[in-house]
Amino acid sequence: MSRPIVAIVGRPNVGKSTLFNSLAGERISIVKDYPGVTRDRIYADVTWLNNQFTMIDTGGIEPDSKDEMLSYMRAQAQIAIDTADVIVFLVDVRQGLVDSDFKVADMLRRSTKPVVLVVNKVDSFEKLLPDVYEFYNLGIGEPFPISASGKLGFGEMLDEVVKHFTSGNTEESTDERPRIAIVGKSSIVNKLVGETRVIVSNIAGTTRDAIDTPIRRNGKEYILIDTAGLRRKSKIKEELERFSIIRTVSAVERADVVVLVIDAIEGITEQDAKIAGIAHDRGKGIVIVVNKWDLIEKNNKTVNEYTNDIKEVLAFMSYAEIIFISAETGQRMHKLFEVIEVVIQNQNLRVSTGVLNEIMMEATALQQPPSDKGKRLKLYYITQVSVKPPTFVIFVNDKELMHFSYTRYIENKIREAFGFSGTSLKFFIRERKENDK
Ligand code: GDP
Repeated sequence: MSRPIVAIVGRPNVGKSTLFNSLAGERISIVKDYPGVTRDRIYADVTWLNNQFTMIDTGGIEPDSKDEMLSYMRAQAQIAIDTADVIVFLVDVRQGLVDSDFKVADMLRRSTKPVVLVVNKVDSFEKLLPDVYEFYNLGIGEPFPISASGKLGFGEMLDEVVKHFTSGNTEESTDERPRIAIVGKSSIVNKLVGETRVIVSNIAGTTRDAIDTPIRRNGKEYILIDTAGLRRKSKIKEELERFSIIRTVSAVERADVVVLVIDAIEGITEQDAKIAGIAHDRGKGIVIVVNKWDLIEKNNKTVNEYTNDIKEVLAFMSYAEIIFISAETGQRMHKLFEVIEVVIQNQNLRVSTGVLNEIMMEATALQQPPSDKGKRLKLYYITQVSVKPPTFVIFVNDKELMHFSYTRYIENKIREAFGFSGTSLKFFIRERKENDK
């Protein structure tokens, strides 16, 4: 089951990022410092009483004027409605109720998503609590007072947030159809779903397409998650790109396989690498698709050159399959679903403990484990503990001695035997005393 998504919505300066940071603590999950990928904190993993969820930061835009404020608020709320399982609507006790709060509350009320109304900057519950009651006027239920900077009131707020999880997530968890997110700059979704896609709503200057579309290929059903979503029609500025990455994060989170579409003309962009980083972080299946291949002048080196360029930028996911297609002419479009099927199988592949230990023993015989200060690393035992992504535990005598490079070496040996193309592999290293063996 995918982790529930919680989005924080609110005007600038109400304390969204302060709350985000306080909740995420040290566990803030950023897109890693891979070469060519800038740090951008968009989502964080939060754990509260055995509940794990992903928090999405919808902030980060400063509207220039009052007019723009409302479009901004609407766009932000729409993203939250589209992507989140629970919405935290954050308001500011010091500023009190303002007109745009009412407008956003209206929007949130009309959606079916659970909303938790949180009143920030209640630095002293004793003094400020009477002012909190005013927020009942928004008509979205009980206001929960907090101080984001003072970390007050978090318990009650989070209890309320996690209460909504079970109801919001059951539908997806019972649906067995693989979920495929098509992400990247150029979208091939229209070609894949044809005319079946419908426009579901038309809200204040933005047109939204259906987000999830069931499709059938080679006798199998899939759910296509579209991230094209919000089309800019109004004066809302280009900064909406930040919103689009939020949409992407949420799509990746909900997907089993991520199809990253790269525009052959443009080549791989930083945004592409960022999305790939998120899919990798989340252990999702991945297929890299180079689209518009019909527009490229080719000789016998072109495919290799393109492949090398992509592999260089996405050095952290050398396991990814790359295919070259043209959505326009249909070239190799059938191949896409063949590859997706292989990736789904690899994500769910289980290797027996016996075979894994044989591979590991052979590997350690071939290349001696490293040693430090006279102590040599010993690998006792390996076992696969889960799938999606395939996850392994290796028991060793001393964790400190198990360098990243040696884990990578073992990973490569497993890949030599089983391929596992299109999926990351996760390793946990555990210590075990020699005589416990
Ligand atoms: P955002 O624009 O909604 O992300 O707001 P920020 O998190 O950047 O916060 C805006 C301002 O409010 C900053 O100066 C924060 O230090 C301040 N702030 C945030 N939370 C609290 C709080 O609980 N109490 C007080 N007094 N100030 C806060």
